[in-house]
Amino acid sequence: MATRRLIILGSTGSIGTQTLEVVTHLNALHTRGLFEHRFEVVGLAAGKGAALLAEQARTFGVRDVAIAEGNGVELPGVSVRRGADAAERLVREVDCDVVLAAIVGSAGLPATLAAVQLGRDVALANKETLVAAGSLVVPASHRSGAKLLPVDSEHAAAWQCLQGICEAPALKEPPPSVRRVILTASGGPFRTATSAQIAGATREQALKHPTWTMGAKVTIDSASLMNKALEIIEAHWLFALPGEKIEAAVHPQSAAHALVEFDDASMVAQLATPDMRGPIQTALTWPRRVESLVQPMPIGSAATSLQFEAPDRNRFPLLATAYRAIREGGTSGAILNAANEEAVLAFLRDDAMRFGRISELVLEAIDAVATSPLTSLEDALDADRRARAVVRTRLTRVTAAAR
Ligand code: NDP
Repeated sequence: MATRRLIILGSTGSIGTQTLEVVTHLNALHTRGLFEHRFEVVGLAAGKGAALLAEQARTFGVRDVAIAEGNGVELPGVSVRRGADAAERLVREVDCDVVLAAIVGSAGLPATLAAVQLGRDVALANKETLVAAGSLVVPASHRSGAKLLPVDSEHAAAWQCLQGICEAPALKEPPPSVRRVILTASGGPFRTATSAQIAGATREQALKHPTWTMGAKVTIDSASLMNKALEIIEAHWLFALPGEKIEAAVHPQSAAHALVEFDDASMVAQLATPDMRGPIQTALTWPRRVESLVQPMPIGSAATSLQFEAPDRNRFPLLATAYRAIREGGTSGAILNAANEEAVLAFLRDDAMRFGRISELVLEAIDAVATSPLTSLEDALDADRRARAVVRTRLTRVTAAAR
């Protein structure tokens, strides 16, 4: 079919707005006869950015939208769903071919799971969905036939390295002959900082990412290397790999996004200028490759001098939490993810909170909340609530003690 109907969840965010740029670009290629598909945006979901959501709906002629908070969207001829479950209702009520999932955090889980259950292909940026409930989402994708097309640049890269040897994720079995997948990390703003400097860092320092421009939450996660922990769990679910076959490497240039090592010791890497419009397009056009908005990388430039370092697990203690969550299974991913989300939210809100408190809170919460089996969405949401409650209680105690 030439027209591909697309719903964008989190359309007002960093990934969502870049997706609309990619859609405009691909539709221009289609008009010029350079790409067979035309994308029709049939649904948009946002958190509270009513004005931008309305503008996007007008620009792209979208008739169905969802907004979680606020009442600001009033558009003639546009059906507006409101409330915490608005994005999920949008997915259930509006027919489409692809859902681009870019809501930040576990708030994206119900809508993304619904898309998978309905058999929609999901271009997945919202990694927290797999971290919190991979054991629900992946089997659901196998039952419905939905593909999970990775948008996260490292997973998009690993998948490109695996082309020809496996189907589109989520895989049912590990890809053959793969010894390990290495996800790269820029190292964030604190790559060369001491433990004391990291512990005492401010919000402004943590939000200065050296190579990527992203939403606030993922930028903070990149600074703590929690982003890599989340991505290790994401790779575990997408590629059916055990934790010991997934590693992280610090690569300050962000030129190579992932490397795959095969049984014969060959390594294959994917390189590209760090620009999320690349992996977004790869997910939307797969298996085709067409001209993109990404600047080609000049060979010989500083960007292609490839430097790799082992991550320092002492300065970045959250990295190891990924392996613990994979080992423990059940609700451990949901607990880890929610504890981190809550701690990062507090850090983004509270001028006085120091960066090191995030990892302390996460480590305290994963010890405090017991892991249980995960058999339903409610199990995941319940674990999420319990972990958030622990973090909030600890934050309140500190605030009370400071008074
Ligand atoms: P942003 O913070 O920029 O955007 C988040 C989006 O989610 C916004 O559209 C926001 O709406 C929406 N949103 C928040 N809560 C809700 C809710 N309850 N219901 C519906 N929509 C909601 O984040 P990013 O775009 O940076 O990241 C999105 C996801 O993609 C994250 O999971 C992140 O880890 C992942 N990712 C991001 C990358 C990047 O380069 N940015 C790279 C790789 C992965 P509003 O703003 O209107 O409130």
